[in-house]
Amino acid sequence: MPAAGLNTFLHEQLTGLKVQGLYKAERHIATPQAAAITVNGRAVVNFCANNYLGLSNHPEIVAAAEDGLKTWGYGLSSVRFICGTQSIHKAAEAQLARFFGKADAILYIACFDANGGLFEPLLGETDAVLSDALNHASIIDGVRLCKAKRLRYAHNDMADLRAKLVEAKDCRFKMIFTDSVFSMDGDLARLADICELADEFDAVVGIDDCHATGHLGATGRGAAEEAGCLDRIDIITGTLGKTLGGGAGGFTVASAEVVDWLRNRSRPYLFSNSVPPSLIAAGMKALDLAETATDLRATLKANAARLRAGLEGAGFTVKPGPTPILPVMLGDATVAAKMSERLLAAGVYVVGFSFPVVPQGQARIRIQVSAAHTVEQIDHAIAAFKTAGRELGVVG
Ligand SMILES: *Cc1c(COP(=O)(O)O)cnc(C)c1O
Repeated sequence: MPAAGLNTFLHEQLTGLKVQGLYKAERHIATPQAAAITVNGRAVVNFCANNYLGLSNHPEIVAAAEDGLKTWGYGLSSVRFICGTQSIHKAAEAQLARFFGKADAILYIACFDANGGLFEPLLGETDAVLSDALNHASIIDGVRLCKAKRLRYAHNDMADLRAKLVEAKDCRFKMIFTDSVFSMDGDLARLADICELADEFDAVVGIDDCHATGHLGATGRGAAEEAGCLDRIDIITGTLGKTLGGGAGGFTVASAEVVDWLRNRSRPYLFSNSVPPSLIAAGMKALDLAETATDLRATLKANAARLRAGLEGAGFTVKPGPTPILPVMLGDATVAAKMSERLLAAGVYVVGFSFPVVPQGQARIRIQVSAAHTVEQIDHAIAAFKTAGRELGVVG
């Protein structure tokens, strides 16, 4: 067994993770995704899904997926450029482009692939990519694959971004790329300031809008709409796997030329299967629903404000920010782990994050609020946090 050595090595590594409390054990959900679910046999309220508008398993989206399955079949057995493009793929791309006010869109199996296949085809040795230090893993990996000069600027630090743009001033193309919402902290990229700098230095601006599309902005067009600069953003990547129904699927929207070049050169698009039509049909329905979901966005805001006020009133430190991501700062990794265990026992499903996902000494519990949460569920969470926080000496 030549693999025995590898397995022994990995066994030791895994034991090490468990000893350090860094091992990721998965909890088993026995129900569809929703505000109220059953986890490990216990009824709990879910505060850790990216289900911001509560559209996961929305009946109209499920019906659209069923329709898509019946009309277009289960799968294509092909990549897009051979025989994997149906009319529904083109319709979805047109809908996404229209939604964001850009010329065209290209679908991927996931946003991880959209980001993984974005930089390498567009940027070469004589170009530069300027990337926020807290950008998502998929952006980091995508940037690694390209030959451009890589310049990482300190998180949301416009002085540092400017310094990096000066450093890159002789490069042919400069692309600034950032998460629009930073998912561990719940803060927004300073998009208006970034666009100003981009104008000054003649740089392309791209954002990953995964944690914003559908629920941020007056009409759900995401963080750039919220910041009033959607028309100044050149490239947007996003997902159908979060607010937009929670299934799967990624996309990039941009100019006709960028999208056409990606169709010809982006490796995760060229060498990976076509997105199943049921997912596309569901995603299109989700986009329709999100566009007009002013009421859900208002409920989401009210829920987040109520939960934040309740936790701050109880003495917790919640990182400030305008998104439905509420990081409750605890500092110590063990406290964060114990706290999430106690909360789960009290029927509140949240997850603690510690190093290396967040910086050392900044362990936290990340709460994700949904428009599907009731006021009672929010108040129950506040009460459970108070009790667990007192027991662990986090609050008085
Ligand atoms: C979730 C997420 C992704 C990955 O999206 P998938 O469609 O699940 O692959 C990429 N970027 C950011 C910022 C995300 O939050």
